[in-house]
Parts: sequence; structure tokens; C-alpha cells
Amino acid sequence: MSRQEKRVNAPARNAANIEIIAFDVDGTLVSHPEQLVIWELLNRRFTGDARLSHRRYLDYAAGKFDYATWVALDVGDWIAAGATREQILEEVRRLRAVPGASEVLERLRGRGYRLAVISGTIDIVLNEFFPAHPFEAVFTNRILFDSGGRLSGWEATPYDMDGKVNALADLAQRAGVPLAACAFVGDHVNDVAVAREAGFSIAFNPKAPEIEAAADVVVRSERLEAVAAYFPGRARR
Ligand SMILES: [Mg+2]
Repeated sequence: MSRQEKRVNAPARNAANIEIIAFDVDGTLVSHPEQLVIWELLNRRFTGDARLSHRRYLDYAAGKFDYATWVALDVGDWIAAGATREQILEEVRRLRAVPGASEVLERLRGRGYRLAVISGTIDIVLNEFFPAHPFEAVFTNRILFDSGGRLSGWEATPYDMDGKVNALADLAQRAGVPLAACAFVGDHVNDVAVAREAGFSIAFNPKAPEIEAAADVVVRSERLEAVAAYFPGRARR
């Protein structure tokens, strides 16, 4: 279905009845000067191969292995390299919170929205940049450390890629609202499915034409405030 057909045939979607806003993390709430994500930074650090993430993405996309295996390959390599929490945090700190992000999240909460994260990031990134935890629900990958601070394990999220839709549907069900009352904000190809299914979606600084086409609105900005403008206050029921 072309972009034009979608615009003609789909019912108009807008932010008027949104109650839950779910965010992607890498590229949406945090960014990197060269647009690297945490997986690329950690693969580069612990394998010395800056292209490994891209090759594994292509293999994943070609169906050579599933998402959980992809996570296991990456984290397994970091464990084999003896990765520690401190080393991982050094790489995490090459990222930065998108300017205005914490303030915008607080403002949206103040306007009555329930906030969530549905992301392929790693929990340590969210904990570093959003220690106030303004989210009611968080769906991310997790990494585990032993008592000496060495990386020792992981839990792969089932909610990245097309699985992001399941997380949003789960949030809607738990809150007792329709999926149409859930918005999503993301930036890349792993956000396309959820952007299509959400009641309203924003492509924030999009990195791929697919997410631009799937989202209701495209926002390009150095700061997150431009996103908040679409959510003036939760609908009264
Ligand atoms: Mg992203």
C-alpha cells in the first residue's frame, strides 16, 4: 500500500483521545552525535568491530536467526570479553538524553498521560538517563551483573520490532482503554509496525523512510518539546 493510498483510505488519526504515550529510546529519548545506538557502541568496544552490528542486523533481517539469538550473540561476545558494569557505563555515557526529554516527560505526566517505554534498548541506558523513572511500564532488554560487577547474563525483550505492537496492546488492555487511545513516538524501522497500529504516532527525527510513511506526524527537532505540542492534555471521559 502506498503512502498516498494510506492517507486517502485510512480514517484520520489524531492525538485527541490519547491516554497512553509510549516511547522508543535510542534515537528518540537518547541520541548519539553519530547516531550510533547502545548495541553498536558496545559491540565496537568489546569486539573491536564497528560493523558487527550492521552485519548481524542484515542476518537477522534475512531470517538467519531470531531476535533472542541476535541479543545472545551480542551480549555473549561482551561477556567473553570480560565486560564490566563500569566499562559498559563508559559507553552508555557516549549517548545523551535528547535535550528537554526529562522536562517533556514530566510535563506530559502533569497533563494526565500515562507514559511507557517500548524499546530495543538495554535497561542500563534508561536507568542512566532517566533515573526519575517517569514511566508506568518499561519494556526493554535487560543485562545482569554478578556481585563483582561483571556482566553475567541477559534477558532479551520479546517486544522489539513487530513485538512492540504486542507491548502496546498489553498496555492498553491493562489500562482498560482501546489501542486507539495509545500513541507511539519512535525513529526507526523497528518502530514501523507499532506506529501503524497506535492510535496516533510520531516519527521523531526519522532515520528511515518507512517510519516517516507509517507515522501520522513527522517531527524534526534537536529537542523533544516539539513532540509535547501534540499532546495538550488527556481527553476527559
Ligand atoms: Mg530508535
